[in-house]
Amino acid sequence: MVIKKNLLEKIFQGTCISSGLAAGKAFIYTDILLRDHELYTIRPEELPEEYKRVEQAIDNVRKELTLSAERVKKELNAQIAGIFLAQVEMLRDPELAREIKWELKSCLVNAEQIVKRVFRKWELRFRQIQDERISYRADDIIDLNRRMIRALTGISAHMLENLPNNSIIVAKRLLPSDTVFLSRKFAKGIVTEYGGTASHTALLTRELGIPSIGRISGILDSVSQNDVLLVNGDTGNLVVNPSDESRKTFAKELHRKSSYAIRARKECCKPAIFQDGRRVMVMANVSCRDDVEVAVRNGADGIGLFRIENIYLSRKHPPTMEELTKELENALAPASGKPITVRMLDIGGDKRLTYLNGTGIDDSFLGRRGIRFLLEYPELLYTQFNALLRLSESFDIKILIPMVTFAQEMQLVREMFQELLQMSKKYRDVPLGAMIETPASALCAEEFHPFVDFYSIGTNDLTQYTMAAGRENSTVGNYFVDDHPAIFKLIDLICRESLDKPVSLCGELASNKSALRKVLDSDIETLSVAPPFIPEIKQFIREQALSYTSQLISVNSVTSNGL
Ligand code: PEP
Ligand code: MG
Repeated sequence: MVIKKNLLEKIFQGTCISSGLAAGKAFIYTDILLRDHELYTIRPEELPEEYKRVEQAIDNVRKELTLSAERVKKELNAQIAGIFLAQVEMLRDPELAREIKWELKSCLVNAEQIVKRVFRKWELRFRQIQDERISYRADDIIDLNRRMIRALTGISAHMLENLPNNSIIVAKRLLPSDTVFLSRKFAKGIVTEYGGTASHTALLTRELGIPSIGRISGILDSVSQNDVLLVNGDTGNLVVNPSDESRKTFAKELHRKSSYAIRARKECCKPAIFQDGRRVMVMANVSCRDDVEVAVRNGADGIGLFRIENIYLSRKHPPTMEELTKELENALAPASGKPITVRMLDIGGDKRLTYLNGTGIDDSFLGRRGIRFLLEYPELLYTQFNALLRLSESFDIKILIPMVTFAQEMQLVREMFQELLQMSKKYRDVPLGAMIETPASALCAEEFHPFVDFYSIGTNDLTQYTMAAGRENSTVGNYFVDDHPAIFKLIDLICRESLDKPVSLCGELASNKSALRKVLDSDIETLSVAPPFIPEIKQFIREQALSYTSQLISVNSVTSNGL
């Protein structure tokens, strides 16, 4: 939406995807599928040659995807690498090759035209499927279509591979194959027409710390290559061809923010203590060793949420106990000596195991996720318990159980764990906690009390289930409001019902500074945020004058004095 027009300057309001400020030149990224490709007819005797081109292209794309997966796994994370491996599997579908060949034979035109058409048909078929577990694959099909066209036309370089310095990428949407080429060094910011806060791009840009704004409709019609852009990922504000006045205001804000960031960084290893003395532990949400290293460098007081899924997503089979122990040991080593909470496998929803495909398991967001899935496959649960108990000999480990709904689930897990402890005899007890992510567990938090040592609130899922808005679904992004009063009411209730047991918060809400004061007033003792946010969140806490707890204490003491 254009909200102001002043000579050349245009101002747009979008959705905040990744925080931070960036100034740079527009790099218009147009999708290869939107370009016109040569159309020519072929003779029937030329068909074998055209088939060969298609087979060669499929082969090249498969190799390229495998390489991308390896590269991403090394440089970013295995969860995103898993997306490429799933695409390799899709490309292996014999039905796809058969349909391309059949269309080639019936239409007798060049392979580019046919590939584009067949993949488009597949994309539409996926999109029309009501089951969200399958329909989300349509984006993967678009991605494969682009790669196939590039392979057929011999365009080897991806447009984003040769990004000039200080570029702000302006695109309709970014897909997994694009995100591999993003690096903080060249991509200063990102502006897209589509894409919600919980999309793949959002996840990655936040992890990379690239300021990003989404959902500015028609942005590609309003920006030209090399236009100067000012991106404010904190407010969702985009200025195109800024006036001198806007440049000055932006430069001032940038300066203020970077001095704040420098100050916060300097102090990042100090504890986050309110001015009245109450300490808040600021921990990190991580999923691999690289994240743990950044977290420790940024002054994390510990690991508040280790997402174990990557270890499972990056393999063809579930890890053995030895493999799991080794991987965790390596990933957690930089945080040795600090408190570490490892979450048990939270599979389902947006995290799917390729080796479960075809088992008929309903692993949608409202299906068999987290603990529901683990109770169905207790061998997975025991492998993790054993590995974590072993690790607890050298690390300060806590175990978190994801997606609990009934207190009985937690009771069952507790019994299984205690039994294992008694049988093995050699390990000491390790604290077990419930991850409160469903409205049912939030509303009945007290029922969990006898079976848990701590509670951890996952506001990402709690929001999607409370607001009835899928976290991956950008079409209902405006309903996914994690600082809605309903969420705060649930947080307050959990804190009250937790009684003497500690409560932490590890969803994205924990790094939203405009909501943080309210979060902290709920008496949350521990926050867990993405590693880049740690220094500023700690600094923010130090600047808060009086915590709710001490206000209560002073009110109580006034009352008792009065008595
Ligand atoms: C959450 O749901 O808030 C959470 C932290 O877990 P995840 O994002 O891994 O589902
Ligand atoms: Mg969750």
